[in-house]
Amino acid sequence: MNALLAENFRSRFGRGPLVTAHAPGRIEFIGNHTDYNGGTVLGASIDRRVQVAVAPRNDGRWRFASEAKPGFVEMTASAQPARRADAESWANYPLGVLSAFREFGLRTPGGLDFLAASDLPAGAGLSSSAALELASALAFLELSGQQAARDTVVKLCRHAENHFVGVPCGILDQGVSGFGKKDHLVFIDCAGPSFAAVPLPEGVRFWIFNTHVKHALVDGLYAARHRECMEAAEFLGVSLLAEIAPATLAAAQAGLPEIPFRRARHVVDEIARVNATVAALRAGDLDEVGRRLTASHRSSRDLFENSTPELDFLVDRLAGAENVYGARLTGGGFGGAVMAFTHAGYAAADAERVVEAYAEKFGNRPDVLPVRTADGAALD
Ligand code: ADP
Ligand code: MG
Repeated sequence: MNALLAENFRSRFGRGPLVTAHAPGRIEFIGNHTDYNGGTVLGASIDRRVQVAVAPRNDGRWRFASEAKPGFVEMTASAQPARRADAESWANYPLGVLSAFREFGLRTPGGLDFLAASDLPAGAGLSSSAALELASALAFLELSGQQAARDTVVKLCRHAENHFVGVPCGILDQGVSGFGKKDHLVFIDCAGPSFAAVPLPEGVRFWIFNTHVKHALVDGLYAARHRECMEAAEFLGVSLLAEIAPATLAAAQAGLPEIPFRRARHVVDEIARVNATVAALRAGDLDEVGRRLTASHRSSRDLFENSTPELDFLVDRLAGAENVYGARLTGGGFGGAVMAFTHAGYAAADAERVVEAYAEKFGNRPDVLPVRTADGAALD
């Protein structure tokens, strides 16, 4: 039981929680837009997390609160809850999980009080949404005396985000929050999906530079890239781009229109880069890992065209700097954040110099967040 969270729960609800659970945010280490193409991806669960506390109620009501939001979101317990809107829409994450319980053959708790707390910035590309879903799912399962395999929990939470919240994310976010391991990366073969831990050497660090710049049409652009990838697969006679080897794609270039070819080139090469990164990690060759990360960014910039001048500037500054192995945009792109993979010798003063240079060019400061790896979602 998490004592501080329990205390906050008590001051809101007038009694202590029965169960507390937590789930980490995640970094997309490498594997940009590979997940929905059936490819591979590497992520890291980080030491910023969402925590959830719950207690049963016997009056058939659900009451949701978050330390990040005012008031309560209240309703009668239901196996098919309705979506909430506007200021209450944050509750769609735990509600989506409860709704998915029924679809996955699980019982929903008849009544409950719920409190979320977090030190994970929301909307920063670190997947606070998946962390909220995973922590909620584990707490609801325990509260209702049920068990589910970890990959079922991960799929259930993705289902909630896709179908209840309405965000068409791949398996990366929930998979890494669910299967994360301290001092490891999570390798996901999205075709299964299957999950494996890849050890990291000691003394490496991750730095997130969040630009807060987001393309106004980001959802539409994401959907457009998804469509272009599926078009390319159709041209190539496969159901997903992961089925195409780099050499096969090169041979097919002449028969493919320019845009689908570039998208396919990025995805097919990126999958090869993910696999090469795993090999370089196993060989302890961190410079090679870093080169792959930076090459991934260049491919996003030039072939997938999901970078921005702000992200490119940060990567250019970071990639050649002392103690930095490599840097790339992390997440869907069209804005958001850059991740730098560094030696432990990289310091806050080094990051500050990057921020100063960025501020001089763009007139505002990105947020800098040093993060370490952490274990995946668990009951406390
Ligand atoms: P990301 O997952 O990258 O952080 P999303 O837009 O997918 O960004 O999810 C952010 C949303 O998740 C927030 O707008 C909010 O609705 C919800 N959320 C995340 N953390 C919390 C929290 N601690 N309390 C309430 N809602 C949260
Ligand atoms: Mg999210």
